[in-house]
Amino acid sequence: DTPRTTFQRVMLKISGEALMGDTAYGLHPPTVERIAREVKVVHDMGVEICMVIGGGNIFRGLSGSAQGMERTTADYMGMLATVMNALAMQSALEKLGVFCRVISAIRMDEVAEPYIRRRAVRHLEKKRVCIFAAGTGNPYFTTDTAATLRANEMACEAILKGTKVDGVYDKDPMTNPDAVRYDRITYDDVLQKHLKVMDASAIALARDNNLPIIVFSLDEPGGFRGILAGEGTYTTVH
Ligand code: UDP
Repeated sequence: DTPRTTFQRVMLKISGEALMGDTAYGLHPPTVERIAREVKVVHDMGVEICMVIGGGNIFRGLSGSAQGMERTTADYMGMLATVMNALAMQSALEKLGVFCRVISAIRMDEVAEPYIRRRAVRHLEKKRVCIFAAGTGNPYFTTDTAATLRANEMACEAILKGTKVDGVYDKDPMTNPDAVRYDRITYDDVLQKHLKVMDASAIALARDNNLPIIVFSLDEPGGFRGILAGEGTYTTVH
């Protein structure tokens, strides 16, 4: 029985760290494969899927610059890290028979397609998963902003942000057992309360374009499918 969904096209944003599993660095192939299976289930429901994967499991511009590296160079290294993660996800999806494309904001034609909006839209219409890599292509941004930007450009109905917890809490639920989860919260409340959902530029870009952000747990098996079927617990930022 295929569960029904009201979503036609969504953006799935995951951090690079989501691909680490329980390891401390880089890629954990069984974890990459597990997430790819979650994506396949949703793909099989007929949903058009965009993905942005961060790079924090490999390199973050801010930590590079904290170690004395020039910031923009460090940021480009971070963007390149996201390309590696995207390629790993592409490989895992293709192994499952899901057609997909890695589309890079920085040209590297031997490795990935360049970003051409109309072409990407066409891939989605043909039910190919589009993995947008290299962030926005600009230093001083994050992959949260890249996900919001591409979600707007691709006319996604929502950003689904997969995290370690099943939504947005009033304080860190990992360290505060009495933390309370919001069912819904406004963009402005997220900004005013400094809740760690996405960085402020990403939240503002989503707000200004009325793009809902759904925060859910990627650690929960079937979590991605559940959200699309309207099941499970999550927080909607709107
Ligand atoms: N980055 C960037 N511009 C972008 C997207 C990413 O410069 O548009 C760099 C930035 O240095 C960032 C790194 O790439 O630290 C990895 O991305 P991010 O921190 O968003 O990854 P995540 O935390 O989601 O794993």
